Amino acid sequence: MTSSPITIFRARRILTMNPARPEATHVAVRDGRILGTGPLEELAGWGPYTLDDTFADKVLMPGFVEGHSHAAEGTFWRYTYLGRFDRMDPEGKVWPGAQSIEDVVTRLQEAERQLGSPTESLAGWGLDPIYYGDRRVVRADFDRVSTTRAVGVMHASGHIFNVNTRALELAGLLRPGVNHPGIPLGPDGLPTGELKGPEAMTIVGAHVGFDREALANDEDGLRRFAKLCVRQGVTTATDLANLLPDDAVSMMARVTGEAGFPVRIVSFRRFQALTPEQAVEIAVKLKAKSTDRLRLGAIKLFVDGSIQGFSARLRWPGYYNGAPNGLWYTPPEAISGLYKLALEKGVLVHSHTNGDQATEMALDCLEGALLDQPARDHRFTLQHCQLADAAQFRRMARLGMCANLFPNHHFYWGDQHYETTVGPERAMRMNACATALASGVPLAIHSDAPVTPLGPLFTAWGAVNRRTASGRTLGTSEAISVADALRTITLGAAWTLKLDGEVGSIECGKRADFAVLEDDPLEIAPEKLKDVRIWGTVQGGRPFPANGA
Ligand SMILES: [Zn+2]
Repeated sequence: MTSSPITIFRARRILTMNPARPEATHVAVRDGRILGTGPLEELAGWGPYTLDDTFADKVLMPGFVEGHSHAAEGTFWRYTYLGRFDRMDPEGKVWPGAQSIEDVVTRLQEAERQLGSPTESLAGWGLDPIYYGDRRVVRADFDRVSTTRAVGVMHASGHIFNVNTRALELAGLLRPGVNHPGIPLGPDGLPTGELKGPEAMTIVGAHVGFDREALANDEDGLRRFAKLCVRQGVTTATDLANLLPDDAVSMMARVTGEAGFPVRIVSFRRFQALTPEQAVEIAVKLKAKSTDRLRLGAIKLFVDGSIQGFSARLRWPGYYNGAPNGLWYTPPEAISGLYKLALEKGVLVHSHTNGDQATEMALDCLEGALLDQPARDHRFTLQHCQLADAAQFRRMARLGMCANLFPNHHFYWGDQHYETTVGPERAMRMNACATALASGVPLAIHSDAPVTPLGPLFTAWGAVNRRTASGRTLGTSEAISVADALRTITLGAAWTLKLDGEVGSIECGKRADFAVLEDDPLEIAPEKLKDVRIWGTVQGGRPFPANGA
C-alpha cells in the first residue's frame, strides 16, 4: 500500500485545544490533515516522514476562525481610509487615523486631486463622526471636496453613508418631500446627505462606488482579504453578508480553489429583498456548490443597525443622550417566516442584532418558529448581540442559540458608549462574555472587519481586558480568562459555523490549519495578548508566511 508523504512539524509548543492532549511538541500532517500530535517517537509510528523544523522556535495554535468578518475589507482598501485609528493594510502599511472632520475632508480633497475624469466618483470608508463631537457630517462638508463628482463615504459601522450634494442629485434625492426613516432632512427640507440602513444606502451606493453586487465580484479584493487573514493567523474566515450573485460565486470558487489561496471562506447569503422561500431555496442551491475552501449555504439576516450610529433598536429607556430609537431592518413576519423555513430545511441562519430590543425580537421570532418547527442543533447565532442582558442570555441557552459577541467595541467605541450612546451601566456589561459562558450559551467573538480590524488575538485581548481607547476598564465582571478567550477564537467560532468537527483544534482527523506565533499567548501577560507577534499560518498543511517567503 502506498500513501501520501507525511510531514512532521516540530514546534516550541503546540497548544492543541484538545483536552486529551492539550500540549505537544510535534504534529504530523498527511494530505492536508492532522494524523496526530505528540512526541516524535509516537508520531514516527505513522511511517516514513519528513521532519520540518521551520517552526522549531514558534508556538502553534489551531488556525484562528473569524466568525464575523466581511471579505469586502479587501475591496475597501481601494478607497480612501478615513477611520479614527491607525490601521494596517493588507500589504502591511499603516495608515494614520483621521483626527477631525476637517482632517477627513482634507484627505478626501487630496484623493480627489489624484482622479482623472471630472465626473469619476470618489469613495472613502471608516468614517465615524461620533469621535468628533455632537455635530453630524452633512453634504456641505463633502461639497468642499467636489461639486461635480459624487462623493460617498461609508461609516465604520457599515450601516450609514455620508454623501455630497452631487451624489444625492444623481440618485434623484435632491428634492423636497423625501419621506424615508433612513434619510434625515435638513432645515431646508432637503436630505442632509446622511443615508441610514440598507434601503437608503442602496439608492445611492451605485453612484459612489459602493454597489454591493459589484463589490461581491472584486477578485483583487478577495486576494487582499486573504493576505489580511494570514497576517492575523486566520485560516477560516466568514464573509458574513454577501449577495452572492452567480458570477461572484464562480469567481470565489475559482480563486479559493487555487493552490496558493490560504483561507477557507465561509460566505453567508444576505437576506435582502427576498421572501423567506426564495432565500432558503437560494441557500440550499448554494450549499451544493461548497468546496473545501468556499463554504456556502447559510443566511445572514439583519434585525437592526448600529449603536454608535444610533440606528440600533434599544429597549426602554433608549439612548443615554436622548437620541430617537433606531431602525428595524427586517419586519418580524419576515424574520419568523425565514426562521421557520430555515429550521425545516436545515439551513443555518445568523442574525445581526445590536440593540437589546432587536435581540428580544429575534428571540421571540425563534421561540415561535421552534414551536411550529421543532429542531435540534440548529446553531442559529445572534451576531453582535452587544446589549443582551442576563435574562436574554438565559433565553438564548434555552432556545439553543449561540452568541458571537463584539469585544472590539470596548476599545473602539467603549468611551462613546459610556459617555453618549447607552450610558455607564449598560456600557459596563456590554458584550457580556462571562454571562454568556455562565449561561451555557456557545460563544464566539469577532472583529466584524472592516468595521474594526481583523485580528482574533486583539479581539481576545478585548474580551479579557475590556479596555477602552482612553484606558477605562468596562466591567471586570464580564471579563473572561485567556484560556476561554483562546477557545472562543478557535473552537467557539467553529461551532457557530458547524465546522467544529473539521477545524478549531489540533487533533487527529482535523484539517492541518495552524496559527503560527512568535510569542506564547499563555505566557505573555494577559494585558499584552494583542501584542503576540504572528509569523503567519499553515492552512491545509501549506505554510503561508505573513511577510512573503
Ligand atoms: Zn458585519
